[in-house]
Amino acid sequence: MSFTVAIDGPAAAGKGTISKAVAAHFGFAHLDTGLLYRAVGAKVIAGAAPIAAAQALETTDLENDSLRTPQVAQAASEVAVIPQVRAALIAFQRSFAGRDGGAVLDGRDIGTVICPDAHVKLFVTASAACRAERRFQELVGKGMDMTLDTVLADVKERDARDRNRKTAPLVPADDSIVIDTSDLSAAEAIAAAIKVVDAARS
Ligand code: C5P
Repeated sequence: MSFTVAIDGPAAAGKGTISKAVAAHFGFAHLDTGLLYRAVGAKVIAGAAPIAAAQALETTDLENDSLRTPQVAQAASEVAVIPQVRAALIAFQRSFAGRDGGAVLDGRDIGTVICPDAHVKLFVTASAACRAERRFQELVGKGMDMTLDTVLADVKERDARDRNRKTAPLVPADDSIVIDTSDLSAAEAIAAAIKVVDAARS
């Protein structure tokens, strides 16, 4: 039987951490849908045309550590405004969401466009300053040379593009439950999400 958990929110709000932990807790599969757009963005950086790249995307394209750089994140948010790119990625995401045994998908439009009938919809957010600080620590931890100001500018630019695009903008679904992680530890945010999913299953 399928059980779908949709987790949306802006960059570095904690969606990934929460999604992985919820999936592990309940034994659900997890798809980070940002990777789809990052993989298309990486192909565009390498010279491909965005729509053709999205239509030809394969699951092996998602298994690449280089997708985690800020440059690829920016390219991802640029290709993500193109309706035909988004359309090309819908079927894969819906089929993942409907798999037997439960699935967690995190992204920007999961509860609004990809899985409007998801059993649980969470919108995970945090202040821009807080998100930038976390992303900065993460990137520095990976040995990348950046300043906090650059990361904050990057987060704000992506937020604006994601929120203001015409197709599938970043917006909480009307029936989503908002978790603001600004003042929560990772453990507290995960516990809050698990509580919501538990309630929906019983
Ligand atoms: O989540 P992540 O930061 O990896 O996503 C990279 C970019 O991909 C986002 O800034 C957004 O523009 C795009 N994206 C999207 N819809 C999703 C997931 C990601 O538009 N469901």
